[in-house]
Amino acid sequence: MSEETIFNRILKGDIPCDEVYSDEQCLAFRDVNPQAPVHILIIPRKAIKSLREVKTRDAEILGHLLLVAGKVARKEGLESWRTVINTGTEAGQTVFHLHLHIIGGRSLNWPPG
Ligand code: AMP
Repeated sequence: MSEETIFNRILKGDIPCDEVYSDEQCLAFRDVNPQAPVHILIIPRKAIKSLREVKTRDAEILGHLLLVAGKVARKEGLESWRTVINTGTEAGQTVFHLHLHIIGGRSLNWPPG
């Protein structure tokens, strides 16, 4: 299976994204198919396929992604938001480069579908 995902290509600058935050460890950009008024993806620069593949050594980057999620959500003016990580096809994962969704700006139902 090819390692090249659409998110790898965004990280390399091969295809554009609507960037909202960037640092040495991660990149955040608006989802191309937003499910709410605010729908942002945060991805690590490190190529990790999903939460299934993470190792103990990834603890710092995983924590960093959550801290950035809070930072980005506050910057968007959100008081409430949902943070989602889909893991595996049946859970809805379509891009196999770890990513965290920030979804907000409207009321969200629970449980999710
Ligand atoms: P998931 O279903 O959890 O794997 O989420 C993948 C997300 O990536 C979906 O919400 C897509 O709309 C989004 N997506 C796919 N391609 C792009 C792209 N080029 N730019 C921004 N978001 C994208």
